[in-house]
Amino acid sequence: MTEVVSVPGSESVNPVAATFDLLGDRLTLMILRNAFLHRSRRYNQWLERTGAPPAMLAARLNSLVDAGVLIKVPQPQSADRHEYRLTELGLATWEILVCLWGWQREWTAEGALQPDLLHEACGHRGPTVVMCRGCGRTVTAHETEVEMHAEAVWSVASSGRRRSSKVLDASPRGVEMQFVEVMAAIGDRWSAVVTGLALAGTRRFSDFRAAVDISPTTLTDRLTRLCAAGILVRPEAGVGREYRLTPRGRALFPFYAFLLSWAATAYPDASEPGLRIRHRECGAVLVPALRCRGCDARLERTAVHFEPIPRTLLDRLT
Ligand SMILES: [Zn+2]
Ligand SMILES: [Zn+2]
Repeated sequence: MTEVVSVPGSESVNPVAATFDLLGDRLTLMILRNAFLHRSRRYNQWLERTGAPPAMLAARLNSLVDAGVLIKVPQPQSADRHEYRLTELGLATWEILVCLWGWQREWTAEGALQPDLLHEACGHRGPTVVMCRGCGRTVTAHETEVEMHAEAVWSVASSGRRRSSKVLDASPRGVEMQFVEVMAAIGDRWSAVVTGLALAGTRRFSDFRAAVDISPTTLTDRLTRLCAAGILVRPEAGVGREYRLTPRGRALFPFYAFLLSWAATAYPDASEPGLRIRHRECGAVLVPALRCRGCDARLERTAVHFEPIPRTLLDRLT
């Protein structure tokens, strides 16, 4: 990665902040989604499916290569010259994307247009739940505690590198149009960080500011946007006028659980994760897994697949 996100005053990377910096980005998530859903491997395939400006797409692919998510493999016979393949670490983002998809299905108007996730063994279709690998129980946000390391003031380098993703708002098309609502919540790293802090129990403006190195203007902007997107709510009157997560915002918990878990995989040597989720019932730091709502089985990537919605149904819906 070209930008180094670190805890001020230390040389160590804050894995969670670095993960938000990498994955809290609309185009990056679109690239990964296409890699899983459509097996995109070549620059031109992503270009066609995302409609992203070429230079921006190239920059994101390079960031993913630098982060060890994609590997560049030479293809001397092909016009593209090389392919980008998911590494083990890249494949491990699968659960993050499934949770994102599940949230879209259940909490956005775009959900009806999403492909269906099918558990082949039992035939169940639809979103999953999160289970704790430690104790095997199903976990919701309410049964967890989010611990934030006191020193983990996040300094997310703000170069404006991602600001140009706004370009995509003008030209989303086809399938990617369906990515709009979820991106309001987590589609730029500041929104992703603010939503993550809200899940960790942060409610007051001053507490958000204390937790992350963010300008008051940017923070106000993101809080306003997250309220408009139905992720946060701020009562009109009352003590302190705190920002609280709506049920829709809280439902992003599985996404964050896997994001944190992925951060630990991506930065195994980091001494301090910055943010961790503890499962209150068993006391363990949550190592999440996906569980089928139909048969309760733990879901591995290879046990499920996405089924596109039949064209005839799509036509009726749109
Ligand atoms: Zn547990
Ligand atoms: Zn099942």
